Amino acid sequence: MNTKNDRASWLKSGNANCSVPPSPAAHPVRLILLGPPGVGKGTQAELLCRHSGACHLSTGDVFRAAKSLPASEQSAAMKTALQSMARGELVSDETVLEMVRERKKCLACPAGFLLDGFPRTVNQAEALEVLLKEGNLPLTAVVNYEMAIDKIVARLAGRRTCSKCKAVFHTVNLPPKKEGICDHCGAPLIQREDDRPESIRVRMKAYQKSTKPLIDFYQKRGVLLTVSAEGTPEEGCKNTLAALEKFSAKRAK
Ligand code: AMP
Repeated sequence: MNTKNDRASWLKSGNANCSVPPSPAAHPVRLILLGPPGVGKGTQAELLCRHSGACHLSTGDVFRAAKSLPASEQSAAMKTALQSMARGELVSDETVLEMVRERKKCLACPAGFLLDGFPRTVNQAEALEVLLKEGNLPLTAVVNYEMAIDKIVARLAGRRTCSKCKAVFHTVNLPPKKEGICDHCGAPLIQREDDRPESIRVRMKAYQKSTKPLIDFYQKRGVLLTVSAEGTPEEGCKNTLAALEKFSAKRAK
């Protein structure tokens, strides 16, 4: 298992090096996590990475990292991307793909990867397929998390993130000891702009329109696994590992 690294290569661009070099895995896991916003993909990605040592590659995290840079260091494309993000809309395929291509060495990470939030459109999935083929990096599976829509909305609306260390809380399911303050570093908790009710509705629509077709795309390629995201994060992780084990056994036959 890996010591947690800072994912510098992913968050800052392909030229930066991760603080802790990834430990090569004998059989690197390469997963894509799908599911509507709020289903808990980020949390599952963290748990699965801890389990497998693979690197958590979230495109949303790259945009959030760019957001904290001074405006003078943000490219024009990034500024437009951040405006789309604040409204809950998808960033253009062109910008997202340019960003992923710049970081393509992360797809070849010897520890494997878990893609979270990418691909989000069939166009992105096709481009990723080319990159993976070029690098001879076959996918292990695509995990599609499912949850009832009213539960998702309640989850998103109550989510609070630490403005400093990025720890995640929930007003109902995981309240901080002191309201509005991070238990870990004492910084104020904030609501992500795109977790506000008006943005949640836009994000759900974007998911239905652009991301749901990916389920068909990966089903046709025989790599799709559907997992329930109800219950605790640990239960979700256990369900994912069990589904992956069953899937690998079936593929090996
Ligand atoms: P996430 O943290 O994955 O929910 O992403 C937060 C926001 O970043 C999304 O609502 C989009 O505005 C943007 N974003 C992240 N990944 C992508 C992507 N693959 N395609 C388009 N927009 C994205």
